[in-house]
Amino acid sequence: MSGERRAIDALRDVIYQCNRCAHCFDLSWLGPDFREKCPAYRWGKFESYTGRGRFFLARALVDGQIEYDADIAARVFACTECRGCAEHCFKYLSTTDIYAAMKEDLARLGLVPANMAAGLSDEGGLGEYHNVYQAPHDERLAWLPDASRVDRPAEVVFFVGCTSAYARQNMALDTYDVLEKAGINFTVLSDEWCCGHPYLAAGMTARAVETIEHTLALVRQLGARQMVFNCPGCQRAFRDDYIKLTGRPAPVQAIQVVELLADRLQRGELRMERYRPKTTVTYHDPCVLGRWMGIYEAPRALLKAIPGINLVEMPRNRRDSYCCGAGGMIRWDFAEMAALAGADRIAEAVATGAEILLSACPACVMQLQQARQKARSRLKVMDITELLAAQIRPVRVAG
Ligand code: SF4
Ligand code: SF4
Repeated sequence: MSGERRAIDALRDVIYQCNRCAHCFDLSWLGPDFREKCPAYRWGKFESYTGRGRFFLARALVDGQIEYDADIAARVFACTECRGCAEHCFKYLSTTDIYAAMKEDLARLGLVPANMAAGLSDEGGLGEYHNVYQAPHDERLAWLPDASRVDRPAEVVFFVGCTSAYARQNMALDTYDVLEKAGINFTVLSDEWCCGHPYLAAGMTARAVETIEHTLALVRQLGARQMVFNCPGCQRAFRDDYIKLTGRPAPVQAIQVVELLADRLQRGELRMERYRPKTTVTYHDPCVLGRWMGIYEAPRALLKAIPGINLVEMPRNRRDSYCCGAGGMIRWDFAEMAALAGADRIAEAVATGAEILLSACPACVMQLQQARQKARSRLKVMDITELLAAQIRPVRVAG
């Protein structure tokens, strides 16, 4: 990359601030509940997979002691982007900004891992199909119960996302259902593309911006002022990533369906039916919803409002939550690491004694369902929208 601008060089000052304390991956001194923070280190075992290790690599890069190569790429891309390291960094350094810069440089050098590169390709991948499942684009709304919802002027756009649209269509239907029960005037987009999040995981920032702008143009045409998501990764692309990448805010408010519902519940516009029989549940914080966007309490407020539901917490919850293994698109090239993280999280959920493990992200739910199957556990794994669709009722105002 000689002579070419590298993203990592702009972060030299941040890289030099790392004091090499290891808080980003080792909090064992806090007790057994904190034993693992970084799924990449848990799997890879070498320090080069951790926050501190990557800061070492980044420093050697900016100091001109090493050059990017496939070994560095393997360290950087074997990361679930869970932000466990950033949350616990002793110096409050945004570790994930360093990884994002390294990914951007590696993408320019053609060092994206093979399966990820194929999955995002313009020939047979995301670039061609506009979804990560290589499914026909014109089947994106195959789950939709009412065609009159498509492309109509509305205040709110329900952005379905690839996983809900193709792999977990019950989540699309459940979200649709709760939005109807909440009395929201919403539409869905006939030409919805992937949110762009997978391009970001690969360091392909220009492609991510292009993808986000495709959707924003459609949203603008319909005059919508709000986008509602059931996938935190999609929401983050519009809420946080777009402004970070372009310096311009997206001209629309991007909120998660659990935020919208918690707000309506608090205002007395929704009520909850009793859940029978009385059931104990536990809740897995999706990394993007929690650590990336700070949304910890809205899903808990909804669960606590359901009579008959008893919420118990896993030892690692909220900012200390442990990644399920689905983040960073690692399932494409680091399937073993993803499976290990999923198995760890299922074991932690089972140990609470809960009958149901809930989450608020299609990728987490899919990953945890597969981990549960492998563990042959009787634990039920479901998305929070499924439970809410069954329990939520609108409050009818008399007169
Ligand atoms: S983001 Fe998560 S997986 Fe990646 S280095 Fe940090 S703690 Fe490890
Ligand atoms: S916790 Fe922060 S300062 Fe300490 S080694 Fe990790 S990245 Fe560096």
